[in-house]
Amino acid sequence: MKKKIVIGNWKMNPLTEREAEKLFKSILKAIPYKLKAEVVICPPFIYLEKLKKLSRKINLGAQDAFWGEVGAFTGEISPEMLANLGVKYLILGHSERRALGETDSMINKKLKAAIASGLKPILCVGEEVRDEKHEYFNIVKNQIIECLRGIPKNLLPKIIIAYEPVWAISSTPNRRDATPADSKEMAIFIRKVLSDLSSPSLAAATRVLYGGSVNDRDAGEFLSEGGADGVLPGKASLDAKKFSEIIRIAENGS
Ligand code: PEP
Repeated sequence: MKKKIVIGNWKMNPLTEREAEKLFKSILKAIPYKLKAEVVICPPFIYLEKLKKLSRKINLGAQDAFWGEVGAFTGEISPEMLANLGVKYLILGHSERRALGETDSMINKKLKAAIASGLKPILCVGEEVRDEKHEYFNIVKNQIIECLRGIPKNLLPKIIIAYEPVWAISSTPNRRDATPADSKEMAIFIRKVLSDLSSPSLAAATRVLYGGSVNDRDAGEFLSEGGADGVLPGKASLDAKKFSEIIRIAENGS
């Protein structure tokens, strides 16, 4: 059985390193000494080095990286540099980055660079709206096909796919809740797309997560009825109590 995974996306929070350290320590204090689930926190780049020194129990991830390894790319950070810091995971294709102009082809290059440097990519996919003609299935399918283009099939299980419908994310104006049924339907669809791209066994070995305002009250439903192998909370990961409760649920199943 695949280990459940809980990934906290801190986005551009908190404001100071001191607060980042405090939050990280409160989460550490509230979770079991030995974890059955995999726990990842993705803070802003500048806190990674400090947090890395605080514990090995929680893995660290970054929220983006460039496709080059080193060179004249002002403002960019390479996956190789992150790997050298001890970072293990890398969120790619988050809708907040896509909204700033990131395309599937850019994400594809970043994914390849991430794999080459040994990082585990977390590829975010998801539609902005749900239309009556169910075009959102094609949107998600195309994102997956384009972002994974040219990646050898046997490497698929190294990539985590996070389904994050933009309309359910906490920062989306007039957002609404997704249901575990929405998550389940899309998880089945994503596994079918992955299976067509590779094989049923490689698709089954690839983790598909749900993200979009996950909190301590609904995480259990997304992990059971929602067919998710893990969850990716944003806002709730900034609250030590809520985030540690989500971890507890992922460990115990309810
Ligand atoms: C996210 O943006 O990755 C996310 C899921 O955020 P939130 O949980 O705040 O909706």
